[in-house]
Amino acid sequence: FFEVKNLNKRYHHHEVIHQLSFSIHKGEILVVLGPSGCGKSTLLSCINGFEKVNGGKIILEQQDITTRLPEERNISTVFQTYSLFPNMTVRQNLSYGLKFKKLSKIDSIKLVNNMISLLQLESIADMSVTEISGGQQQRVALGRSLIVRPKLLLLDEPFSNLDANLRLRLRRELRKIQQQLKMTMIFVTHDQQEAFALGDKILLMNNGELQQLATSPEIYNNPANQFVLSFVGKVN
Ligand code: ATP
Ligand code: MG
Repeated sequence: FFEVKNLNKRYHHHEVIHQLSFSIHKGEILVVLGPSGCGKSTLLSCINGFEKVNGGKIILEQQDITTRLPEERNISTVFQTYSLFPNMTVRQNLSYGLKFKKLSKIDSIKLVNNMISLLQLESIADMSVTEISGGQQQRVALGRSLIVRPKLLLLDEPFSNLDANLRLRLRRELRKIQQQLKMTMIFVTHDQQEAFALGDKILLMNNGELQQLATSPEIYNNPANQFVLSFVGKVN
């Protein structure tokens, strides 16, 4: 369904991603796990087209999208820090992306209302996003990405600014929504617990290179190398 082949990315002379290859089935969550600075966010920027690659291919539903513009990729991204429009309400933030789709007014209102109930935002739907909590803001950011029904959703440490309880709750909600919508996702984190709780598969990377791509039990029981062994042996 989605595939990255021999991806290379340099910033100036510094190689940040080296010959990275992996693929994901439709409806799967792939978690990209690795230490700070290993190239996780850069990988997402190459996939969504915010950054140009220096080599390799990115393929979505059999189409080579490596050089397509970000807005032509059918990929949405949720970032760690809130990327909402501060002068708008929750509802306005959700409906923003629909403006560019050819939908009737009634259909877009329906979609927005469905998203509000899916994410349980009823009580704050008409509040300005500057008046709601961080957890609520991240839920709105998720809704805004989901509402355009991307083929692939990228999430870059979306819950890392939130407290532990809320993080757990949002993780569970995300899982549920992902299953309901059969959404394909790449979720980036440096938190092992989060990775193992969410990922159908885990891609462990270090220094821009793939170390292991496997299910969490496989990684625990059969670490591919010394790096994997010491990384999963470490408690965050
Ligand atoms: P973290 O867990 O801290 O978010 P990360 O795995 O997401 O880290 P990246 O942000 O992808 O790491 O950064 C990988 C490397 O690329 C780092 O050495 C970083 O300094 C470098 N880098 C990232 N963005 C740029 C940029 N725009 N220009 C130059 N170097 C960059
Ligand atoms: Mg990052």
